[in-house]
Amino acid sequence: MKVARFSLEGGEPLFGVVDGEDLVVLSGDPLFHGINPTEQRVPLAKAHLLAPVIPRSKVVCVGMNYAEHKADMAHEGPDNPLIFLKPNTAVIGPGDPIIIPPVEGRIVHEGELAIVIGAVAKRVKAEDWRDVVFGFTIANDVSARDVMFADGQWARAKGYDTFCPLGPFIDTEIDPSNLMIETFVDGELRRKGSTKDLIYGIPEIIEFASDVWTLLPGDVICTGTPSGTGGFVDGQTIDITIEGLGTLSNPAKNRDDRDY
Ligand code: MN
Repeated sequence: MKVARFSLEGGEPLFGVVDGEDLVVLSGDPLFHGINPTEQRVPLAKAHLLAPVIPRSKVVCVGMNYAEHKADMAHEGPDNPLIFLKPNTAVIGPGDPIIIPPVEGRIVHEGELAIVIGAVAKRVKAEDWRDVVFGFTIANDVSARDVMFADGQWARAKGYDTFCPLGPFIDTEIDPSNLMIETFVDGELRRKGSTKDLIYGIPEIIEFASDVWTLLPGDVICTGTPSGTGGFVDGQTIDITIEGLGTLSNPAKNRDDRDY
């Protein structure tokens, strides 16, 4: 099923399950209370979709996880998954603007399959990965590409507020092993690849990351971007489509005095 987090007319966040053109409202946060449908139904068209999860502790990202992207970046990586963190304050939802900070150089989209963790995960064996996964969604691992190189590490370049759009839904049943990921800027295809070409697959990523950090329910793991070029600027819209997961769409705008 597809789980949404949403609000109605600016009210408190609610959770729901997609059923045709409607959302069936759930009682409580399904990550902690299970899927408990109520009698209430809301037309999807009336719901303001929010980030489907706010990570409780962290967003883990895997870098250079597609061979062609690794080649694009001319990156000599370690012989294990290259992992880094984004703060949960970087998360925004569908339709929310990516705010471009006043930094030198390119701002780049990285459309990625994102894993949503559903149980406390510590030193999980690869074959047990399903036990700790709630579902999958789409992430945009927005990156200030030239800041990555200038700083020599990625905390700032990957961690600005709004640099982690997530959504639109969490799919709790999809098979993640062969999903096409496409990233568009103003409708033009910029990046494309299938999760079948991940260097480290989802079981291996979970085993590796949960050996380093205890993963908590609601934590998110971005699995890496396929190859492609280009970035985006003020006024453009970035759409990321993953087969079966829908499209995550966010406009970009330069930071101004009204942003805080
Ligand atoms: Mn990435």
